[in-house]
Amino acid sequence: MIIAIDGPSGAGKSTLGKMLAKEFGLLYLDTGAMYRAAALASVRAGAALDDEKAVIEAVDRSDIRLEGEPDSLKVLLDGQDVTTDIRTLDAAQAASIVSTISEVRSRMVELQRSIGEQDKKGCVLEGRDIGSVVFPNADIKFFLTAKPEARARRRFEEDRAKGRESTYEKTLAEINERDERDVSRDDSPLVIAEDAVVIDTSDLDLTEVFEQMLAKVRERQSEAAKV
Ligand code: C5P
Repeated sequence: MIIAIDGPSGAGKSTLGKMLAKEFGLLYLDTGAMYRAAALASVRAGAALDDEKAVIEAVDRSDIRLEGEPDSLKVLLDGQDVTTDIRTLDAAQAASIVSTISEVRSRMVELQRSIGEQDKKGCVLEGRDIGSVVFPNADIKFFLTAKPEARARRRFEEDRAKGRESTYEKTLAEINERDERDVSRDDSPLVIAEDAVVIDTSDLDLTEVFEQMLAKVRERQSEAAKV
């Protein structure tokens, strides 16, 4: 079973994706972490982010892996644990920039498909183009969204809890800028796949969203069982 979860930053994709993966015993793939690692690879190689050729070369030379259980997912860049390094605001912005480059996207998509198909049981993948590009035939597609203010509030509180320095205003500006880049890029912009289940999480708590998602997955499983 392939479960695709797409949507803008801060809509709850990671938390809910991990919960679903645990519930159904599936692999969990945070594709944003891969773009963040690709961006870090470029920065470490000394590539200017607006130098597409240099970024593509750096990403081509890099080895990006994700390891471990949903709750303790480790991101490895060239064998080094970069799980914490990729969570800064700078890394998020850099990921948003390198993810507009088609060659970078096709390399990531290839990796994502091979990881997604690795386990017979299936995988939960979250990102921006999972249901539209990476797995257009996913068994179920979710599009999670929320008002920008709600998403910024959550992201800011999450950052604060983890001891990352920021302000609500900075977080809001940052996610608005990234979302704008995601919806307006030429290659694989953030879109709602035609057959996606759209959930606005602005006024729902985590349990309510999870219950809705669980019900949809179970519904889909029983439909598939009948075929
Ligand atoms: O999900 P996260 O915020 O970690 O993603 C970082 C950036 O990577 C996003 O702002 C987006 O530009 C990019 N991304 C993407 N396609 C994906 C996942 C993330 O373009 N499937």
